[in-house]
Amino acid sequence: MNTNARNSLPFLPYGRQMISDEDIAAVVEVLKSDWLTTGPKVSEFEEALAKFCTVDHAVVLSSGTAALHAITHALGLGPGDEVIVPAMTFVATANCVVFQGARPVFADVDRDTLVLDPGDVERKITKRTKAVIAVDYAGHPCDYDALRELCESKGIRLVADACHSIGGSYKGRPVGSLADISAFSFHPVKNMTTGEGGAITTNDAELAAAVRRFRCHGVTADFRERMRSGSWYYDMVELGYNYRLTDIQCALGLSQLRRLPQWIQRRNELANTYDHLLSEYGLTERVRPLGKAAYEMVHGRHLYVVRVPAADRASVFADLRAEGIGVNVHYLPVHMHSFYRQEFGTGPGLCPVAEAAYEQLITCPLFPAMTDDDVARVVRGFSRAVRLASSSGGVIEPGRIA
Ligand SMILES: *Cc1c(COP(=O)(O)O)cnc(C)c1O
Repeated sequence: MNTNARNSLPFLPYGRQMISDEDIAAVVEVLKSDWLTTGPKVSEFEEALAKFCTVDHAVVLSSGTAALHAITHALGLGPGDEVIVPAMTFVATANCVVFQGARPVFADVDRDTLVLDPGDVERKITKRTKAVIAVDYAGHPCDYDALRELCESKGIRLVADACHSIGGSYKGRPVGSLADISAFSFHPVKNMTTGEGGAITTNDAELAAAVRRFRCHGVTADFRERMRSGSWYYDMVELGYNYRLTDIQCALGLSQLRRLPQWIQRRNELANTYDHLLSEYGLTERVRPLGKAAYEMVHGRHLYVVRVPAADRASVFADLRAEGIGVNVHYLPVHMHSFYRQEFGTGPGLCPVAEAAYEQLITCPLFPAMTDDDVARVVRGFSRAVRLASSSGGVIEPGRIA
């Protein structure tokens, strides 16, 4: 294990997968079987995901980005169309709109939770708006009732980029069932993993079929279906990609999904421990956790994010890293990236809440195998780091954070 020079403690990453002997056995079993890809584990994993999310259809794909691309294609988005996306997200949320030749329009986020602000979505809707992609930033479900009502009143499709929130819920309804179609990622830092991988969930049979075609070259029947029907014939009806997920990966996904609920519970416990210790150490003026919305929900807790005074962020970050604490920053707002500035003329001032928040954000280590002692180590690290930085910084005043 990597240790660092200053204190010889092991490096604590911001996220990490959990792999059990059962996971390994499940993968080995597939390696010894007849199907390495597009075999029985794909449909088993899809059925288990659909059931978990209480929806009719799940389709697995090679990544979360492939899932988002399949969605923008299935929705028929193209040149001239606009899609509203939050500024505070991973670039893939907006890139999937660009893949289709459509235009991402950036909406700002809520000051406390940093999830999509339905009020700003409404302001950004034009007659060209075809869809809204909501992102459950850090695992915090967006206000889906408000977004759904807005989208339905305008005839716009609602997509959930739920890459952070699988295993969470909103007003008793599971993530994955909250929008017209939802996207998941199974990258190792996410709440569960297949190595690389992703999925969509939906109750719309046509959207599910379109994603299935797009996943396999735009062809109407997969190899196993053709074997079953004894037919050599297939038809390519539109342009698609090879975005398939292997049986090897789906076996891992099936095994992981069984343990997801206990991991979400552990992630929430660890987040509560962070909240508790930050306040016990008297740090919440200078190291403030993100807020939670008033509506009932189960937080997916992909990330534990705090805000420090912008003037202190660089030194607090550097000091924690020197302590072997793998803090990170999620995210530079998408519209601030060079590509979007150059291609779409975006830049500072477009989404002021996200831009101001970005200057203050630090993502703390959070993964189910962490111990309470690990959390205490991070909080002690913050305590030291903010003291060292106190010459420069101010206080984050509630209500005046952005
Ligand atoms: C991880 C992530 C993606 C992309 O998923 P990949 O599996 O890495 O392609 C998309 N959106 C968000 C919000 C993510 O966190």
